[in-house]
Amino acid sequence: MTKRILTLTLFVCLLQSCRSFAPLPPPLAVPGSTETLIPSSTPAPLPTETPLPTPTITPTPLPTTDRVLIVSFDGLRPDAIAEAEMVNVMTFMQAGAYTLNAQTIMPSLTLPAHTSMLVGTCPAKHIVRWNEYVPQNGFALGTDIFDLAQAAGMQTAMVVGKEKLRQITEPGSTDFFEFIDKTDKIKDTSTVERLAIKQIQQGFDLMFVHFPDGDLVGHEDGWMSRQQLRAYKRNDELFGLILQALKANGLYEGTMIIITSDHGGHDTTHGTDLPEDMTIPWIISGPGIVPGELSTQVYTMDTAATSAFALGLPIPAEWDGTPVFEAFGMPVDQFRKSGCGY
Ligand SMILES: [Zn+2]
Repeated sequence: MTKRILTLTLFVCLLQSCRSFAPLPPPLAVPGSTETLIPSSTPAPLPTETPLPTPTITPTPLPTTDRVLIVSFDGLRPDAIAEAEMVNVMTFMQAGAYTLNAQTIMPSLTLPAHTSMLVGTCPAKHIVRWNEYVPQNGFALGTDIFDLAQAAGMQTAMVVGKEKLRQITEPGSTDFFEFIDKTDKIKDTSTVERLAIKQIQQGFDLMFVHFPDGDLVGHEDGWMSRQQLRAYKRNDELFGLILQALKANGLYEGTMIIITSDHGGHDTTHGTDLPEDMTIPWIISGPGIVPGELSTQVYTMDTAATSAFALGLPIPAEWDGTPVFEAFGMPVDQFRKSGCGY
């Protein structure tokens, strides 16, 4: 672990050394350092030194990412993207870096997997293995990406399709949190995309947006069923509206966007270690991202780590995720952690 941090630090130092160490200013003339021209009635000012600026090194990739948007399509298998003709996601993939072989955690269930995605750790550390909204269980353990962002004074938001995702982070860690209850349509006329667009209009630094529909339909009609693919296509159109809102508000260029999922599925279920359940898409586009297919083995915990890296936030040592440096055009980190070890 220590070796990995040292290597990373050295690497970032080397990368940034040519821009962070500005030439030192010439020595300043110090008034009062000579004794000749000062009237005797005036006490001679003490010699002073102008402190030289201390060079600082920050792990911020260039160009700067102003904000990060993480979008999760619940239950989205990578092969559903093309099958469902998710044109906005596919266009986004062509412009960004991606892998269709990222891996989620066990159990491959919505709440534990989203927790690993946003807390940056395996379930053994965040302890969220339950998959219902159980308020008495409290919240995931550990420092999550929202904690980091808020500690840095950033505006954080979560717009989700399931109330249980509240248990990923404490209410105090999100400036805005709202969930859409699909079973309560009469009272609730808001939608995930409308709430997300409102946050875009108001300005955010870190936002997580969760579309629940594909998973809900999958449990009814099956994974990769015609009905499920139709749900993902509709979600893709809503994702398109979010992209439009970013552009209309002049925020698109500075926004790092990660598209991913919590798990896949088979038959009408998920939760096992089958590849159909464990394999998820991971797509990133934004400032400094080099387009192309990634050779890095990406894990869902890397979403938190990559988001922190993009925002210039310190990555907690206990995190099991690692920034996907390859997406930024950097070499694959040979000390990458290898999943949660099952
Ligand atoms: Zn799910």
